[in-house]
Amino acid sequence: MKVGLPKEIKSQEYRVGLTPEGVSELVNRGHEVFVQTLAGAGIDATDDAYEQAGAKILPDADSVFSRARLIVKVKEPQAQERARLTPEHILFTYLHLAPDQAQTRDLIDSGATCIAYETITDDHGRLPLLRPMSQVAGRLSVQAGAQSLEHKHGGRGLLLGGVPGVPPAKIAVLGGGVVGENAILIALGMGAEVTVLDRNPDVLERLSQRFGPILKTVFSTRDSLEKVVLESDLVIGAVLVTGAGAPKLVTREMVSGMKKGSVLVDVAIDQGGCFETSEPTTHADPTFKVDGVVHYCVANMPGAVPRTATLALTNATLPYIIRLADEGWREALRADPLLRQGLNVAAGRITCRPVARSQGLEW
Ligand code: NAD
Repeated sequence: MKVGLPKEIKSQEYRVGLTPEGVSELVNRGHEVFVQTLAGAGIDATDDAYEQAGAKILPDADSVFSRARLIVKVKEPQAQERARLTPEHILFTYLHLAPDQAQTRDLIDSGATCIAYETITDDHGRLPLLRPMSQVAGRLSVQAGAQSLEHKHGGRGLLLGGVPGVPPAKIAVLGGGVVGENAILIALGMGAEVTVLDRNPDVLERLSQRFGPILKTVFSTRDSLEKVVLESDLVIGAVLVTGAGAPKLVTREMVSGMKKGSVLVDVAIDQGGCFETSEPTTHADPTFKVDGVVHYCVANMPGAVPRTATLALTNATLPYIIRLADEGWREALRADPLLRQGLNVAAGRITCRPVARSQGLEW
């Protein structure tokens, strides 16, 4: 199979679809890989590194799209990339089509086979290609919170772990899924006092077994949540209700009642946010204050660490890319119904029920 790796062109996107190591795996299996020059610049992977892995470097996106059949990317294709897609192409990337009618229309018109990372599931119904980004965002949320608590960033001037004789900061993690669990791991490692709230008792039990009594687990109700939030120096919002916007768990009133200089990190901002006062921010200007409380609401947190994020993404996507390349998309999808869940658009039709419904189409 001829595999193409274009340079990402979405604003502030520094990740790339495959590392040189991933390319090498494909080349060793007899596939041809075409990499756009400087595709790996954002993660410090040079053209030389890709060439040594066996790729052919091409000067622009047009030549990658015209030579390759399987296009591997990170972000949804932008309008100029969509214009390059033909019925011969298989596109494998994050698509997030549900809220994006313009993209859906263009992908239908292209006739290409479009497989979305975010709708592939595993044996347990989980989303294996969203997981690595949730792991990154969860771990990063504590780093972002720690920085925001510093005086110069408008925070209370607290060190998460305290020092001997001085108590640590109190962190509340709302939602104990992938983001929450990774946030807890780092927060406990930094010596903070951590409480997790979730409304699923199985989640609380699993976390309790993993971390032991050092982690406080609380069943989430409006009252229990308000009590914990008002006592906390840092609150990390990590809830998800599949297929719906994030529930607004922390009200404006609760925010007003928090200590001045305390910090909210709303990881769920990509689903609308779980604090009533949240507004999306960017890496260039990540925080703002409401009633003296610092809000960090960056919608693409993994973009801050493109190298780690690309390595984690390649680890997760490579087995699927290998199957698509080795077997061809028809056979790979026929053999694996969980991979088939990733098929969003093919031969000019939407092939994924939630996407069709979100666009108001009959299914
Ligand atoms: P997940 O499904 O693994 O975990 C979500 C948890 O929230 C579950 O344990 C669920 O029981 C809990 N929950 C749901 N409603 C709740 C409520 N009312 N009270 C308490 N707990 C509740 O999801 P995840 O992968 O951890 O993702 C969490 C959020 O982070 C999602 O919104 C996801 O889109 C977002 N995310 C954002 C970024 C970013 O860059 N900002 C990156 C990755 C993920």
